[in-house]
Amino acid sequence: MPHVLVLNASYEPLGVVSMRRALILVLNHKAVSLEDSGVTLHSATSAVTAPSVVRLTRFVRVPFRGPVPLTRRALFARDHGRCVYCGAAATSVDHVIPRSRGGQHRWDNVVAACRRCNHTKADRHLTELGWRMKRTPAPPSGLAWRVIGTGIRDPRWRPYLEPYGGIEQFREYEHHDHTESSGALPAPLGRSHSVHPVPCGEHPKPEPLSA
Ligand SMILES: [Zn+2]
Repeated sequence: MPHVLVLNASYEPLGVVSMRRALILVLNHKAVSLEDSGVTLHSATSAVTAPSVVRLTRFVRVPFRGPVPLTRRALFARDHGRCVYCGAAATSVDHVIPRSRGGQHRWDNVVAACRRCNHTKADRHLTELGWRMKRTPAPPSGLAWRVIGTGIRDPRWRPYLEPYGGIEQFREYEHHDHTESSGALPAPLGRSHSVHPVPCGEHPKPEPLSA
């Protein structure tokens, strides 16, 4: 089932919820749909178009936002899926200051790296290798990261996330999108069109085998 982007009444992105939860918000008038998902859900008596983006009708105060959770997915998005040392496709997570030498698992000490660089670097400092990073690692900022970090995406969300940072990474996600949303669409629940091509009893009789 596709997911739904939830915006605050102020249009700030709040996060991603299941389609079912979003529909309940809309049906209870706690949110309004801003974009349709193209998915039609049927009940016994009616059909409703499920949303792709909803906006809360009342502003919700979010008192404290901690740092963006440091996940492999979010880290790869921050570093554009590339090794920060050589630019090859990243396949692993590297601690700039090795953990064995006191380096911490924090946004400013982890980077995406290719296997080769990670292996070569091992537990050495960059200065010992004479290596440089293309940019200094830092925690990602911008409310859009609440959504980007989840790895769940939908091209329809882009205009709503664009003012909140991280859109470059979102584009890359789209580029690598393997039609997750369209692949998840349920089959249309229309009437069955199975019509007997030949009325019963009128099937052509097999030719009797000649002796
Ligand atoms: Zn590399």
